[in-house]
Amino acid sequence: MSGRLRDQVALITGASRGIGYAIAKAYLAEGARVTICGRDEKSLANAVEQLQIAGSVLGISCDVSDLRSVQKMVAATLAQWGRVDLLVNNAGISMTYGRVGEIDPAAWANVIAVNLIGTFNCCHAVIPYMQKQGGGKIINLKGYGADFPSPYVTAYGASKAALVAFTKSLAREYKQDGISVNIFSPGVVKTELITNVSTTPKGADHLSRIDWAIDLMAGPVDRAAALAVKMACMGTEITGKSFHAVSIRRLLLRAARYGINRLWGKR
Ligand code: NAP
Repeated sequence: MSGRLRDQVALITGASRGIGYAIAKAYLAEGARVTICGRDEKSLANAVEQLQIAGSVLGISCDVSDLRSVQKMVAATLAQWGRVDLLVNNAGISMTYGRVGEIDPAAWANVIAVNLIGTFNCCHAVIPYMQKQGGGKIINLKGYGADFPSPYVTAYGASKAALVAFTKSLAREYKQDGISVNIFSPGVVKTELITNVSTTPKGADHLSRIDWAIDLMAGPVDRAAALAVKMACMGTEITGKSFHAVSIRRLLLRAARYGINRLWGKR
């Protein structure tokens, strides 16, 4: 711990497990006070219990797709810590697999509601306070779904691609207020978001077809969390940018190695 985030308050959505949890742990290790949220109260309570060992943490049950729920979470954060310096829009879901003509429209819309509208809701609720404070940093999560759109996961890809545009637009809207807005791709991390996919036949089929890509893009969760720390430490003049925990250069190198291995394998 080097205390790089001492005196900072971070609100991290969807941090009861997975990448959000790792980011919360890394921020606490750097001295931040942290609010985490998730919908399931039991897993949220477990996460808070574990994270409290590392520092000051508040858990609020919240569904980011519901603006009222988000406003309550922000109010509770302000009541507890008095400010919000960092907003990490990490909460996300992926569970809709299938072709657009066959997919359940409500499930499709729910992915957009959580990933895209959920991020909007949190920004909408937090930005006025950041303006009053004289600045802040917003960090959004994308994925390779935004960079390399693939079939059968249109809602996920569309939501993440939209978040890239949202990030760039928002960055320009609030640059003069000292609020930076950036986005990053954590690489493929085998969290519930990925493993849940294999619990449905369509999802399992999808995973088996992109298995090679998952291997290519895989990265440890600590690398994603380290990038989130680095982004929280950057000056607010860096805004509207897109970052990758597993760099595109590294991806290309891995892809080349993969191609060579396949060629050898075929011989
Ligand atoms: P995860 O393990 O499934 O965790 C998702 C977290 O979000 C959980 O804490 C979950 O808690 C919470 N959540 C889900 N829906 C929510 C809602 N409506 N309101 C509030 N919280 C909600 O997922 P992850 O892999 O860590 O993914 C985190 C982020 O990274 C997502 O934005 C994802 O798109 C992105 N990402 C992940 C990968 C990857 O390989 N894992 C790759 C690229 C991008 P509850 O279920 O209790 O609400």
